Amino acid sequence: MSDTILSLSGVSKVFDLGGGHSIEAVRDVSFDVQRNAISVLLGPSGCGKSTVLRMIAGLEDPSAGTVQLNGQEVHGPGRDRGMVFQAYTSFDWLSVRRNVEFGMKINGVPKAERQERAAHFIDLVGLTKFIDAYPTQLSGGMRQRVAIARTLANDPALLLMDEPFGALDAETRWHMQELLVEIAERAETTIVMVTHDIEEAIFLADQIVFLSAHPGQIKEQIHPEFKQGRVADKESVIARPGYGDMERHIMRLMREEGTRE
Ligand code: ADP
Ligand code: MG
Repeated sequence: MSDTILSLSGVSKVFDLGGGHSIEAVRDVSFDVQRNAISVLLGPSGCGKSTVLRMIAGLEDPSAGTVQLNGQEVHGPGRDRGMVFQAYTSFDWLSVRRNVEFGMKINGVPKAERQERAAHFIDLVGLTKFIDAYPTQLSGGMRQRVAIARTLANDPALLLMDEPFGALDAETRWHMQELLVEIAERAETTIVMVTHDIEEAIFLADQIVFLSAHPGQIKEQIHPEFKQGRVADKESVIARPGYGDMERHIMRLMREEGTRE
């Protein structure tokens, strides 16, 4: 039985550029996200991926269509959606522990529960040793792990990520992708993530929503069934029969679309 948590229906976005000019960023996008799935928005630069994610986050309103979370139309940001950005967003003057506790403190979570949840999620992202360290003492990958722990600690229904590993070097990125698969399993969380990295999309996704170049429209919805469920390590995914065909197929889609900013 399908268990839809998020539903976009006929979502479009036109930005007013002033002086009588406007830009159509996203056109008539409809897709469903299943509970506990990892859905990846993929497409060429400027195709509207971030705009779609920001509408799910409630940071932008659609010009037409609806975004529904658990059957309720989304209006504005809410605690039920947590966002992780590409740029590091931790507070440098707070320890890892205090960074992760911060949102819970704002939300009035009692101290004991806050401490327990912070410790749990810091452990989940493998940073227990660094719990009293400060962000400036951490590598880029570790900082993104703090951002993930902090977001998950608020117990969002949806974890939204916009190119979260884009600023990391290749090896760190690859470890973070594997960590995310592990987190998705252990925290039973629903993830919607934006990337322009084909390999990352195939490795992570239960569902890939491929957007065409500007204005962003759904070109194809891809289910990497060859993986036969989640796979913990990247080289095993790449070794599966079917990986090469899927990568080639998506590369062709990407080439057809090019970048039309
Ligand atoms: P992607 O994330 O796929 O690279 P974006 O969603 O950032 O693409 O942008 C899609 C299009 O919408 C681009 O042409 C961009 O210039 C435009 N756009 C995005 N945000 C705004 C905004 N706040 N005002 C005007 N145009 C915007
Ligand atoms: Mg973007």
